[in-house]
Parts: sequence; structure tokens; C-alpha cells
Amino acid sequence: MIHIAIIGAGVIGAAIAYELSLVKGLRITLIDKQVSALGSTGAALGVLMGILSRKTKGRGWKLRQTSIERYKTLISELEILTKQNIPVNHQGILMLRFAEEPIGEWENLITIRQSQGYDLEIWDQKTLNRKCPHIDNPRIIGAIYSPQDLQIDPKKLTRVLVKGASMNGVECKFGIEVKNIIYDTLKDSNLHQCYEIQTTEGNLKIDKLVIAAGLGATPLTITSSQPLDIRPVLGQALHIKLDKLPGNKDFQPVITGNDVHIVPLGNGEYWIGATVEFPDEMGEIISHPELLEKVKQQAISFCPLLQDAKVIKTWFGKRPRPQGEPAPVIRELPHYNNVLLATGHYRNGVLLAPATALAIREYWFG
Ligand SMILES: Cc1cc2nc3c(=O)[nH]c(=O)nc-3n(C[C@H](O)[C@H](O)[C@H](O)COP(=O)(O)OP(=O)(O)OC[C@H]3O[C@@H](n4cnc5c(N)ncnc54)[C@H](O)[C@@H]3O)c2cc1C
Repeated sequence: MIHIAIIGAGVIGAAIAYELSLVKGLRITLIDKQVSALGSTGAALGVLMGILSRKTKGRGWKLRQTSIERYKTLISELEILTKQNIPVNHQGILMLRFAEEPIGEWENLITIRQSQGYDLEIWDQKTLNRKCPHIDNPRIIGAIYSPQDLQIDPKKLTRVLVKGASMNGVECKFGIEVKNIIYDTLKDSNLHQCYEIQTTEGNLKIDKLVIAAGLGATPLTITSSQPLDIRPVLGQALHIKLDKLPGNKDFQPVITGNDVHIVPLGNGEYWIGATVEFPDEMGEIISHPELLEKVKQQAISFCPLLQDAKVIKTWFGKRPRPQGEPAPVIRELPHYNNVLLATGHYRNGVLLAPATALAIREYWFG
């Protein structure tokens, strides 16, 4: 049996573990130094901006399209297998339009998406007022509605992926940190082959390795000739609750405008986020409360009823952003013949997890 180790049980490692568990004849070990979904994934809002994204071709679109298509079957497949529910908002994503924005680019995108088999609608102010009466700001002139884009609970998805993988035979080792990758150099070549990983609970013999460790990918590749440079971009968000549900109770899509998302959770509860905060010149990254307040005020400016909401909690997470190459990084670790990298998904890890998992599966098993 081929033994594959996957380092990292965030949404990316969990999706890879599940997808590889569908390939016969593999022994798979999923390792995390914490439990699953406590890294960047634990902070995410799960807004899957696939059809609404401006990407229309090339790798960026291909990955999005693959994920959109895989999500159509993945959720029910996992729910049937694990008998667990994954909270998904199927009411689409509504992107607000402001006075100064030209419509031409959206019209082009709508034509392209139609040719790709997806719907997007342009709503004027009247339609927006009728369907979402809680949106109330004179600068908002309408919206683009994407009925097929989803929002999903990232932690629950990840935990159900881990459960599904484990039901399919994947061994999960949590609370164990991988310290080092041990390799041989192949005869008559400069290629390395990883045959063991060193962990806080001893060494583990393996045949293939996937590094899906998010920000942890940098220390793990530091001794390689081309280490991976993944840096954190901080994001803060908040969970609020209103006594009364604003708007139409039967139509609660995700609202997004100026990069601020209002994510309905049901019962008058919402997630609002997220800030985008880069490290300073010293590489230090500290969260700035005033930026979270700005995000909250932006949401209130779209939906004034949110002013009365009670803040239940605030949190932050660090998005893994690759330096010097586009996100995400899905490729070989240079000079190794059996190590794949699946990391650096920056702001779209939940969206791109299914496509990443399929790319890893296809790379080794066709
Ligand atoms: C506030 C916020 C909002 C976001 N909203 C969205 C959104 O709406 N939609 C979206 O698509 N994306 C969103 N993202 C981005 C998304 O969260 C990330 O792209 C995604 O979670 C990355 O997943 P990952 O599995 O690569 O990393 P992580 O979730 O960080 O997982 C990496 C795992 O590796 C483990 N690990 C690291 N090193 C080691 C080691 N040496 N040994 C063992 N284990 C190790 C860690 O413990 C961790 O569990 C958001 C992020 C933030 C912070």
C-alpha cells in the first residue's frame, strides 16, 4: 500500500484527505498539531465568491469552476456518509453597486457566465428595495445577484470532511506536530525523495507527502533549496445578533459591498467581516480594533437596522498568502519527487478546497 501523509487539517488538508480516501489501495495519515479547523479555516466566513468573481479564464477561473462543480455533489455526499449536517446558505450572494460604478464590466461578465452555464442578474434599485428592504443607503444604486454562489460553515465543513475521510479509512493524528522532512537523494540525480517525517511523537515512514499546513508550510520547507514563503494577512470579524430579523425572512442572501460581507446565520444572527491587515516592515502583525469597527460601520451603512445588534463575539485569523507567486500554491516542492504543496490560498481557501483536493488526486492518480 502506498502510504501518504498530509500535514495540516484545515479545510485544504481535510478536503485532500477526503478526496484521496476515495482512491482504492492507499494508506493515508492526516496530521495536525492542533485539532482540525483551528488555523485560518476557523476564522473564515465561508463566502464562496465563484461565479461573482471577476476571473473568467486561466487557472484562476478553472480552479473556481472546478470547486463550484464539485461542491454540487460534495455536500450531500458527505452528509449521507457521515449523517452530519453542513450549514449551507443556498440563497446566493448579492453584491451591492454604488453610484460611481460603471455597469459595462458586469454586463460583459454576465454574458461570459451565461456561456459558461451560470446565472447572474443585474438588479436596479427598485428590485433591490423590493427583495431586500433592509438595504437602505442612498449611494447604493442596485446590485448584482448571483443565485448559484454559496456560503458554507467552514469549521463544520472541515470537521465533516475529516469525519468522512476517517470513515473511509484515513488515520487522523491530531495534537502532533511535524518537525522535519527526512529524505534521501536519488542515485545519479539531484532529486530528493522524502521517506520519513519527524514528528513530536516519533518518526513516520511514508511514500508520498502533501504539505497543506497553511502558514506552517514555510518552516516545514525552510531546509529545502527553494523554501516556500507564505506570510500572514490578518482578518478580523464579528458575530452579531438582532432581536428581530431584518428584511424578508424567506430571502436572506449573503450581502457584500466594498469588500465587507454580511453573512446571515438564521435567527437574526450574522457574521460580519473581514478586515485585511498586512504585516508591518518588521513582519509583525497585530490586529487593529479600529479597523474592525470600520467594517462594522460599513455594514451598518448598508443595513441601518444592524445598529441595534448585540455583538456576541469578535475574532481574528491569519490568511496564508504566498510571496512571489500567485495564490494558491499547488505544485511540487522543487527537487523532491514525492512532495506536493497545497497551501497559500489566501482569501479563498474555503472556495478552492475541493478544486485543490482534485488537483492533488489527479497529479498522482490521474
Ligand atoms: C477572517 C477571515 C475570513 C475569511 N473568509 C473566507 C471566505 O469567506 N471564503 C474563503 O474561501 N476563504 C476565506 N478565508 C480564507 C481561508 O480561511 C483560508 O484560505 C483557508 O482557511 C486556508 O486553509 P488551510 O487549510 O490552507 O490553512 P489552515 O486552516 O491554517 O490549516 C493549516 C493547518 O496546518 C496545521 N499545521 C501547520 N503546521 C503544522 C505542522 N508543522 N505539523 C502539524 N500541523 C501543522 C495547523 O495547525 C492548521 O490546522 C478567510 C480567512 C480569514 C482569516
